[in-house]
Amino acid sequence: MRKTLLAAVLLVGTAWSGVVRAEEETVVSPGGKTFLKVALDEGRLTYTAGYCTDGEDGAAREVVMLEKSPLGLVANFGDLSRGLSWKEASTADRDIRYDLERSKASRVDKKARTLTVRVANAQKQEMEVEFVVEDCNIAFRYNLPKQGETGSVRVMSEATGFRFPVGTTTFLSPQSDAMIGWKRTKPSYEEEYKPDAPMDAPSQYGHGYTFPGLFRVGTDGWVLVSETGVDSRYCGSRLGECRDGLYPLEFPMPEENNGNGTVEPAFALPGSTPWRTLTLAPDLAPIVETTIPWDVVEPRFTTSHKYKFGRGTWSWILWQDGSINYDDQVRFIDLASAMGYEYTLIDNWWDNNIGRERMGDLIRYARSKGVELFLWYSSSGYWNDIEQGPVNLMCDPIARKQEMRWLQQQGVKGIKVDFFGGDKQETMRLYEAILSDADDCGLMVIFHGCTLPRGWERMYPNYVGSEAVLASENLVFNQHFCDNEAFNACLHPFIRNTVGCMEFGGTVLNKRLNKGNDGGTTRVTTDIFELATAVAFQNPVQNFALTPNNLTDVPAFEVDFMKAVPTTWDETRFIDGYPGRYVVLARRHGQDWYVAALNAQEETVRLTVELPLPAGAVVDYYHDGKDGRTPTLEEKKVGKGGKFKLTLPSGGGAVIRAVEAMSE
Ligand code: CA
Repeated sequence: MRKTLLAAVLLVGTAWSGVVRAEEETVVSPGGKTFLKVALDEGRLTYTAGYCTDGEDGAAREVVMLEKSPLGLVANFGDLSRGLSWKEASTADRDIRYDLERSKASRVDKKARTLTVRVANAQKQEMEVEFVVEDCNIAFRYNLPKQGETGSVRVMSEATGFRFPVGTTTFLSPQSDAMIGWKRTKPSYEEEYKPDAPMDAPSQYGHGYTFPGLFRVGTDGWVLVSETGVDSRYCGSRLGECRDGLYPLEFPMPEENNGNGTVEPAFALPGSTPWRTLTLAPDLAPIVETTIPWDVVEPRFTTSHKYKFGRGTWSWILWQDGSINYDDQVRFIDLASAMGYEYTLIDNWWDNNIGRERMGDLIRYARSKGVELFLWYSSSGYWNDIEQGPVNLMCDPIARKQEMRWLQQQGVKGIKVDFFGGDKQETMRLYEAILSDADDCGLMVIFHGCTLPRGWERMYPNYVGSEAVLASENLVFNQHFCDNEAFNACLHPFIRNTVGCMEFGGTVLNKRLNKGNDGGTTRVTTDIFELATAVAFQNPVQNFALTPNNLTDVPAFEVDFMKAVPTTWDETRFIDGYPGRYVVLARRHGQDWYVAALNAQEETVRLTVELPLPAGAVVDYYHDGKDGRTPTLEEKKVGKGGKFKLTLPSGGGAVIRAVEAMSE
């Protein structure tokens, strides 16, 4: 590793400590696309970031996407946000290489430049800020050494913030009040996004916004802000209310988790905070394709188990609580078997409505049909009013381990744990404890009613999904969400689902969202739109909203498509789109390409897109027919240069499927 002691730029001024040394360091990403400037101004550490482009005269030009923004933290033992002096900066090259078996890209191999800035306060207490700068991505975290005899830290607040240029518009989801909603289970990342909103508008609840946040910097481009590497050693953070273009990083609200647990995170020294990440570029491709959430984290443990990702059926999503009985579960196990799916998820009340003894029979029945089971649990506990069973098992280490051993003995392969209490460190410890104990018993884990996953696909070998989105259940609950289904779907590939897997429970092929397909809310999207979401949305285990009647009441080619669609991808490429309006993206699984297109706009979108496929390649083209409502499958040839014409009606979509096609 190359280490350089960098020459300092000296400016003389006055401050409380006397002479101020204003010093700065700039690094540019290995491919020359992205720059980062870190500076000390009057004892405060700041950073500025943007991209490099050629100006009209051909000379390189820097476009600032993140204006000078604050860094630092206030520890319980001292203030590391001001009165700082610059000690040292060092840079190095870093190769980022790893396999990621359950997300949008299976092999990551890229170069980064690191910058580590060491500062100290007047009490000679030190802190490092460590940056990783890739083309289009920046991650940074704080590293704290042991401070003399002091071997632990409580972080009282962070100075970290994100300041955007005037005129920037936002695509943000507000943080809700704590202890509201169904059985007082919020916050759970299930609020509605506002597209292209001005920065100065207050958030819906006055508590800022949850990660990730997308910002459009006028015509200069886009910035996605998030965090990763959050585990039992910190809390989940969020963006506070905007003040003069600055979004401060904030810790959880005291009321979360029923008021239990501290707001301020703590960890042993030496130690680090999580990484905060920026993806920034003139266009949206680096946003949709980013792997920064996984580039800077490490596995927390290895496993002796081989976990298998795949598809599942899930009765609860359309048939709801009334379907949690033996006979209906047999029907959904049979559906999974007919579809060639790996899993069935049995939701809340199975302990009561089926009972543990008959669950043994059901598990054996499923396995006789080649289907493995996921069982539902409440996380609670003492942080909500959930009464759906099983309760009070996952929160208690002794009961949890016993339960997991029972699951393992019965041959269950996974659990879904629902209704967590917020983002405090106490709750992060619970997520990690569940994952760790579950791995001991060979169980995969899906979280619902939960926080955003932050690098967890790489950190925990048995982690296979999080909701943390206004998911498909809302389509059943209220027509408003059906009317907004296309709009929301056209946001996720750019925001929520690009930083982490998303257990949405989608692809509804019923026209009506009730058990009989004859009442309840009405789906307003087309069938092909729904098929396209199976590709556009990514989760390593997708529990689709298919029902037994779909085997016979939708065109056979739709069923065949749903039998074949993969849930993990070797490669993802953005093709076209705008958040909340429309999206076209391509994903590769082995040698098969799946291109998904969704349109949320009132008008039909007509596009000529460039596919990653050679001219003349014959593809399956799933579209909405001439009338924009008739599901149609035809074979079509890719044009010169990968050109392909798409017509996407309002609420409609398309899928292009190329099996064993060569990539271009
Ligand atoms: Ca939910």
